[in-house]
Amino acid sequence: MSPESRAAEFDAADPLAPFRERFTLPEGVIYLDGNSLGALPKATPEAMRRVIEQEWGEGLIRSWNSAGWFAAAGRVGAKIAPLVGAASHEVIACDSTSVNLFKLIAAALAMRPGRKVILSEPGNFPTDLYMIAGLEAQGLATRRLAERGAIVDALDDDIALLMLTHVHYKTGAMHDMAALTRAAHEAGALVLWDLSHSTGAVPVYLNGTNADFAVGCGYKYLCGGPGAPAFAFVAERHHAKLKQPLTGWFGHAAPFAFSDDYAAAPGIEQLLCGTSPILGLAALEVGVDLIAEIGVGRLHKKSQALSEFFLECLAARGVALECVSPLDSAARGSQLSFHHPEAYAICQALIARGVIGDFRDPDVLRLGFAPAYLSFANMAEAARHLSEVVASGEWQRPGYNRRAIVT
Ligand SMILES: *Cc1c(COP(=O)(O)O)cnc(C)c1O
Repeated sequence: MSPESRAAEFDAADPLAPFRERFTLPEGVIYLDGNSLGALPKATPEAMRRVIEQEWGEGLIRSWNSAGWFAAAGRVGAKIAPLVGAASHEVIACDSTSVNLFKLIAAALAMRPGRKVILSEPGNFPTDLYMIAGLEAQGLATRRLAERGAIVDALDDDIALLMLTHVHYKTGAMHDMAALTRAAHEAGALVLWDLSHSTGAVPVYLNGTNADFAVGCGYKYLCGGPGAPAFAFVAERHHAKLKQPLTGWFGHAAPFAFSDDYAAAPGIEQLLCGTSPILGLAALEVGVDLIAEIGVGRLHKKSQALSEFFLECLAARGVALECVSPLDSAARGSQLSFHHPEAYAICQALIARGVIGDFRDPDVLRLGFAPAYLSFANMAEAARHLSEVVASGEWQRPGYNRRAIVT
């Protein structure tokens, strides 16, 4: 049976197939970059229009109370919580992932006096490493990096915090959250997980693994739109001792008491800093509601099936690209990455054919399989395009190797 006929059978039996209609996707595009910017839910423009025209336009300042604006950060956080195995009062939607990393790294350092080392891995997402560097420059932290296989051995009593990205942005390799969290705790360290490539794609059990802190992204699998607010998680057992350094008025216990002195809100709200971005939260809430409706368990199952089928289609066409992602779908997130010295030009040639993936420096072609809106037919077709681009040398066309700013 041809890959196309098998795809048609899989699509006919796919319980998630109807959800594709809930997203706006341009005609003729196979979108394999939902891990970088999730697609637009069809309900988002209408929800935004209501917030802009009615809540802002008509309600004006009154909407902070009457339209629930003040509670939005906590409300959206509470909806994200079950997607990452947290309780509703342990997650808040705010700021960017980068800023949330800063707040939580600093908070962790304050909870481990006498220890200054933040342990991470080389090749972690750049902003994660850069945010440690910022605290290092202030004399508050010392950065230490250990390769994946050496992380447990590197956990000594200098380590205040182990900070890792659960699903690696470039390779898709997934860390064992339970084992690493346990090892860090045994060494007296706290743990911060970056869930940017996990949330809405793979099951995450923050409380089940006894995690301390986490951050994650709103614009990837959660489909919150470009620059959507991120989220932050702090385990309830740390709420009373938590001290984060960006002590803005929205994190105050009583912002509208207008006191001269800061007093942190008792719960997760103390992670807020400035005024919540209501328009961004409104878009994020639509994405979160939709992903929650589909359900992470079903999304994960389909994502594994999609990527396994994609590899089968490539093999059937005799495409011999070196896959840098774990070949066991249980050991990776919702993506496949391939090494090729001309990965950038291949990616551009694919985009010209309507197959949108991305490139990660220096030589990785990254294809994301957002299961909420991709079909098995998309997999068969994308594999055909990739095989034709590689076999024909079409990627050598002038212009395909000219790098844009955003890759
Ligand atoms: C996408 C991503 C981020 C993004 O951080 P921003 O502050 O939203 O730019 C951070 N960490 C990881 C691991 C990511 O994949």
